[in-house]
Amino acid sequence: MKTYIIGNWKMNFTVGESSLFLHKLLQKVPSYRDIETVVIPSLIAIQSLSLQTDRRKIKLGCQNFYHQDFGAYTGEVSIAQVRSLVDYAIVGHSERRYIFNESDKDIRAKVAAALRGGLTPILCIGETEAERKDGETADVLRDQLLGGLGDVSAEDISKVIVAYEPVWAISGHGKATVASPLDVKDAFKLIRKILKETYGKETAEETALLFGGSVKSTNAESYLLLDDCSGLLIGGASLIASEFTDIIEIAKRVKDERP
Ligand code: PEP
Repeated sequence: MKTYIIGNWKMNFTVGESSLFLHKLLQKVPSYRDIETVVIPSLIAIQSLSLQTDRRKIKLGCQNFYHQDFGAYTGEVSIAQVRSLVDYAIVGHSERRYIFNESDKDIRAKVAAALRGGLTPILCIGETEAERKDGETADVLRDQLLGGLGDVSAEDISKVIVAYEPVWAISGHGKATVASPLDVKDAFKLIRKILKETYGKETAEETALLFGGSVKSTNAESYLLLDDCSGLLIGGASLIASEFTDIIEIAKRVKDERP
């Protein structure tokens, strides 16, 4: 399985700044066949960046979309409209769940829409600090995982990426606690177990699990070394070219050194 290094730019950079930043990345990022590098800019920049990027080096994703293909949905953008521009789509990010009140039902419809459109959904799941303190982590992960995957068949599960993103570890909302590799290992173990129960052992092994939450070049290796880790979803550090490219190099080294 490839290692995924995915940068979520969130609501940062103008269209011009996005283009300059991508230009810088394209100059610095090597093209490794076993590392899949993806950047996820604001929707407004996607079209121009899709013309600018070299997909062998850096692929694109979208941060959000509506699950219907076309119609009277003012202000929305569909998978049918972005599918020729991007390869990946984030679904269920905690900022969408908690700031924009997206429910598991919305998220399920989006995962299905992304698959229908031929994009790879990156389904984000993760507990809040309060849920963790109340011992609800396992229940939350199970509910969000099965809630988001409700309409996904065993045939399609290998086309979905699952990102464990504990809300308490995500930067940009005040204080964030850095998750220990052990925290992440436990969560991956549980996610894999639920996938196995739902889709069968072999099929479940094919689903890539990523970690996201305050990942930087200084801690990336500790997560990438986890057996079940197929990559990282990176917010803040993906806005700094040297950090992002350093993380790609770390991922390559870890991959090469893996037995
Ligand atoms: C995210 O929001 O997906 C994320 C991982 O952000 P950060 O790396 O900034 O914590």
